[in-house]
Amino acid sequence: MSRHEHPIQRMLTANAQWAEDVQRAEPSFFEQSAKGQSPHTLWIGCADSRVPDSIVTGSKPGEIFVHRNIANQLKLDDYNALSVLRYAVDYLGVEHVVVVGHTECGGAAACLAAAQDVNLDLDKPIATVGSLPPDSSLNRWLEPLTRLAVSLELSSTPHEEALPLVVEENVKMQVENLAKTHAITEAWTKGTRKGQDVWIHGWVYDISTGKLRDLNVSRGPPPKKPLAETPVCAEPEEYIPVDEPVYGQPSDYIHVDNALPYYYEEPEEYNPIKAGPAHYGVSEEYAQVDKPPKAGPIQVFA
Ligand SMILES: [Zn+2]
Repeated sequence: MSRHEHPIQRMLTANAQWAEDVQRAEPSFFEQSAKGQSPHTLWIGCADSRVPDSIVTGSKPGEIFVHRNIANQLKLDDYNALSVLRYAVDYLGVEHVVVVGHTECGGAAACLAAAQDVNLDLDKPIATVGSLPPDSSLNRWLEPLTRLAVSLELSSTPHEEALPLVVEENVKMQVENLAKTHAITEAWTKGTRKGQDVWIHGWVYDISTGKLRDLNVSRGPPPKKPLAETPVCAEPEEYIPVDEPVYGQPSDYIHVDNALPYYYEEPEEYNPIKAGPAHYGVSEEYAQVDKPPKAGPIQVFA
């Protein structure tokens, strides 16, 4: 195969060879793949070509369900991402959802640069990419991340020090958002259709080393203890169950009141969060509750 071969032809040629190699090495692989998928993980990552999920994790086709976009966003008004999440959690049975940022992220770098611009006017729509109008799709997409970068107060921090901070805080913000989605809060309070536990995680991939770093912001379902032994039972009034989704309505929008994060590494820090601030960068209309929350008994998994 020539290095100078047209990239399209090179990809097709390489694919044919790959399929042959796999067929030879594992004759039943494609036959089994065709029967269905049961990925263990949903990867929410950046579209950056240098962070290919399956390759950097040594995974085979069928192991990772993937949603990628510019700067690995999980927005609470994004039907694309929310539908991927819902399908992965409830119909494919993924046990892990991982938000993966990466070093040298162009999206994050653009947002940082805009945030460090002394002429930035936060009262107006932000043109993160100055060559495009503020209402262009790319600028609308990047605006919440630019506002997050502004909140980090990095105006006098050198770019090379500030960018890793934006990347990391972005991942943490998207994990926060994940914890507010219906798909995740329902998995933690009611369980999933397939009955698996679901954990969420935040990682950063280092492009210069090829290594993934765990930010230790993982959360998972409540401890599986008998009701009487579960500390949270002492205060049943603290619990607000998530309502059934109402079909035809935006049921995947967040229930701010119902976000119930559980920190599996430090269970003693368990503390159901009641009403909290709306997601940064998402207007109140997206924090709507489908139906008024009602108090009820604590649900504990058997
Ligand atoms: Zn990126």
